[in-house]
Amino acid sequence: MSRDPKYDILFEPVPIGPVIAKNRFYQVPHCNVLGHGRPRAEAENRRIKAEGGWAVVCTQEVEIHPSAELTPSVEGRLWDDRDIPAHRLMTDAVHEHGSLAGIELAYNALHTINLYSRIAPISPSATVVHGNFPMQARGMSHKDIRDLRQWHIDAAKRSVQAGYDIVYVYAGHDMSIFQYFLKPQYNQRSDEYGGSLENRVRLLREVLIDTREAVGDKCAVALRFAVDELRGADGLQAECEGRDVIGMLAELPDLWDVNISGWDNDSATARFEPIEGFQEPYTAFVKSLTSKPVVGVGRFTSADAMVSQIKRGVLDLIGAARPSIADPFLPRKIEQGRLEDIRECIGCNICVAQDNMCGPIRCTQNPTQGEEWKRDWHPENIEPAVSSDAVLVVGAGPAGLECAMQLANRGYPVTLAEAKETLGGRVTLESQLPGMASYARVRDYRESQIVRQPDMQIYRDNMLSSGDILELEIPHVILATGSEWRRDGVGRAHAFAVDGIESVAVLTPDDILSGTKPNGRVLIYDDDHYYMGGALAERCRQDNLPVCLVTPDSKVSSWTEYTLEQEKIQARLLSLDVELIVSHELLNVTQGAATLANVYDKNRRVEIAFDTLIMVTSRQSNDALYEELSAYSDKFKTLLCIGDCLAPGTVAAAVYDGHLAARNLESEIDFYAPLFRREMPGLE
Ligand code: ADP
Ligand code: SF4
Repeated sequence: MSRDPKYDILFEPVPIGPVIAKNRFYQVPHCNVLGHGRPRAEAENRRIKAEGGWAVVCTQEVEIHPSAELTPSVEGRLWDDRDIPAHRLMTDAVHEHGSLAGIELAYNALHTINLYSRIAPISPSATVVHGNFPMQARGMSHKDIRDLRQWHIDAAKRSVQAGYDIVYVYAGHDMSIFQYFLKPQYNQRSDEYGGSLENRVRLLREVLIDTREAVGDKCAVALRFAVDELRGADGLQAECEGRDVIGMLAELPDLWDVNISGWDNDSATARFEPIEGFQEPYTAFVKSLTSKPVVGVGRFTSADAMVSQIKRGVLDLIGAARPSIADPFLPRKIEQGRLEDIRECIGCNICVAQDNMCGPIRCTQNPTQGEEWKRDWHPENIEPAVSSDAVLVVGAGPAGLECAMQLANRGYPVTLAEAKETLGGRVTLESQLPGMASYARVRDYRESQIVRQPDMQIYRDNMLSSGDILELEIPHVILATGSEWRRDGVGRAHAFAVDGIESVAVLTPDDILSGTKPNGRVLIYDDDHYYMGGALAERCRQDNLPVCLVTPDSKVSSWTEYTLEQEKIQARLLSLDVELIVSHELLNVTQGAATLANVYDKNRRVEIAFDTLIMVTSRQSNDALYEELSAYSDKFKTLLCIGDCLAPGTVAAAVYDGHLAARNLESEIDFYAPLFRREMPGLE
């Protein structure tokens, strides 16, 4: 197959200063927390993107000096020459496929607390550091400014030695010193670096010039710049400073990499920015002010949307972080005319959550992400089947679908049985929630793949019993039968059922998503803390029902802080007039009334009336079938339980489990043994 000519424009080369991107697909810098601690994994992660067709593959943030280091996170590091060989691994890997390697030099200043180096952070003016760490940053002297410039020059020179083709000056995400100089909030200096915008932009201008001199004429200089902070007059705005800064520096960098700030806006989830290309309203003006190429992002996964960006003169290069994580082979698939094979990002920010938890990258759609070196997993290739044995997969949720798809890719004859008419399990249900339609992509991608497999039999509307399964006499049986939300309130706050709950007609998320309508005044008790409680509250408000959401945590949907959604969720619920009661647990219930106790002082109590009680606390595995079949384990070569049926968790965890089971079928690997490669510290 070859590509549709209407996409030819995406494969035109683009000069970036002295180097040439072979096409318009550009993996912008993004974190993966492999970094300096796992350099081989880092190199393989980026190599695979180059193999997948990205013309430019960039690093994550790379610390240039110990006075702004990101411990406990493990991002890039280029403090001195000893860090160069680790970067060489990455640039060589990217060059293997004819792609350019870019490095994002970062000096995070206020965004760091230097847990490793213990150096007091610096800032344009003395101020508090980000987060609530009890530490302040000291204001910079002129010597500090000279030192910072020198550190950046040294790092730029080392970047060239390490083989990079594009060196970044970073001024975005509310995470970079050069952006802090632009912001009056942090820059209250009275010298030539403070006051007017001309003064506040001075350091950025100097560093761009320094960097160009440092890298010489073989390497391009990129400026990553946030044009708008989406804070109105309280922050930088595209219509004011954003436009002015681009006007002032228009021709200085070889490439403008533009986006919006902070990270929660740049990497907005699909729940809050459902439309592809959502940054266009902010960044579209940039090209009118510079002759240099412009790259921008917007969760681009459709080739038509990309072509439209280029043809309408919005962007020259299609930037991607998350779409390149979900499908490292996205460019190659467009080139080969295989659009239906693209694994589209669902905008869930599980990848972002991993970074915020300082864990190596993972992705809901792409279970091989972060496992490329560690387990030698490739997103497009899988080991052939060991035998021609048949496999039965029971349950077609994320775990079952991924498992069945990969087993078929290996060449096993697969029977997939699903109790419902529609495949997808929980993602089919949850994609009905407000803003979560994109979760259906987890099903759609896999369903579209498996229906084309000749050796795949799909039985819908087929609830299998243990007797049915024994009768089939299939040697390998994998149970992906999912989980159910509990009704009794057991969760984090309650190890045992809530007092009185057995006498009350309780609804669960499963009931609501299967069509049961709540009525009257709705009380949602959320002891789960991810998206479900908040999303159900939103859904009930769409039906005009009065809603009160109670949670033992001090914020609603508190785990979504990691996915950068928490503030947006709380603000949305408030705007919808959802009554929020935080730091309270459910002490007891009777029909129509609940007693809540303050979690810090159980004697402080509140009575609250309800017509419908929805419990969102924890889930129970549907493992009865597995238990029954375990009594006949001698009848099977494989009997496995995977996904939520094994241990309820995220959709990402279920997909991963399905993938792992498929990879390991008939292998010698003990399913639960941590048999993956580790990178050991080099002892100098
Ligand atoms: P996971 O996230 O682990 O994939 P889900 O709950 O999303 O779990 O999916 C489990 C799927 O298994 C659901 O679609 C459910 O209808 C199906 N299922 C559960 N029990 C059976 C069974 N005995 N036979 C066939 N399908 C089943
Ligand atoms: Fe997209 Fe979610 Fe994967 Fe991140 S984890 S790349 S948001 S699908």
